Amino acid sequence: MQINLKKMGIAVLGGDARSLVIVEELAASGAVVNAAGLPADVLPAGVNYFREPEACLAGVTAVVLPAPGVNDKGQLYCPMAPQPLSFTRELAARIPPDIPIFTGVAGSYLAKIAAVSGLRLIELMKLNEVAILNSIPTAEGAVQMAMEMLPITIHGSCAFVLGFGRTGATLARLLGAMGARTRVVARRPEHLARITELNLIPVPFAGMSHYLGEADVIFNTIPVPVLTGAVLDKVPPGALIIDLASAPGGVDFQRAANIGVKAILAPGLPGKVAPKTAGRILAKVITGLLYEEMAGN
Ligand code: NAP
Repeated sequence: MQINLKKMGIAVLGGDARSLVIVEELAASGAVVNAAGLPADVLPAGVNYFREPEACLAGVTAVVLPAPGVNDKGQLYCPMAPQPLSFTRELAARIPPDIPIFTGVAGSYLAKIAAVSGLRLIELMKLNEVAILNSIPTAEGAVQMAMEMLPITIHGSCAFVLGFGRTGATLARLLGAMGARTRVVARRPEHLARITELNLIPVPFAGMSHYLGEADVIFNTIPVPVLTGAVLDKVPPGALIIDLASAPGGVDFQRAANIGVKAILAPGLPGKVAPKTAGRILAKVITGLLYEEMAGN
């Protein structure tokens, strides 16, 4: 079903190639789209370009911020913009408190401004329907990195996936399908049972260090420090660790370097390896949520 947003005014501030897809899809759904922090020459016909975010906000009933949101210094993520854009308290004060403001994950700065200014933030990456679909480009991107960095094939390698949540499950299944001997570390008995059912090798979280000595590659998705101290010391020199967990990640990178293990923090893979897919995932959820809002009013 093609959603009709019936000329709803929406401001899109900053962002990367994903935001361009969002702008395009919102406009195709009948919204009146204002954009700032994206290059004017690549915006689809009919989208209103603004140099300043303040003017862009006039009269809108929804705001879309970049998937990576706003950094700790208050700067909107806008790598395609000619100049940096700030999300200040003054800017926030121009947004009516009851309208939805979409972002990926609100960092501490944005969360604080939203709380102070009474803004209604919707963190898209926290929604299962986004996180599960986003796990597809994440898993593909992680495997791509491993293929580029390892001197061996994924097929036949000993791969560990730490965590069996939305990202871990997709990645483990992909590695298994590629012929890796895939060990998946989880702490919940039902997850260990599901890992077995998928014909992958379950490893209880508490016993992980007994098996790490076999690893060629380890993908971490657990967002707390897990590959540290004596556990990390079990990883053989020459193994590769790809840490997917959000900053600060789950790996002691300094210690890994000291023991000859290459460890890489790999944030934001969907936007890097498949911006169009990642943009479509976000656009579909945003238009769906806006349509529901409209129907509820
Ligand atoms: P998720 O569905 O919440 O899964 C997290 C996993 O970590 C679950 O298996 C969870 O186990 C486990 N876990 C959490 N705390 C733990 C602890 N203290 N000890 C042991 N296990 C623990 O999250 P997700 O959506 O898969 O995302 C995982 C991480 O990747 C997040 O940091 C997310 O921001 C990041 N991410 C990165 C990218 C990228 O491009 N690099 C893309 C998407 C997501 P339980 O189920 O038992 O709690």
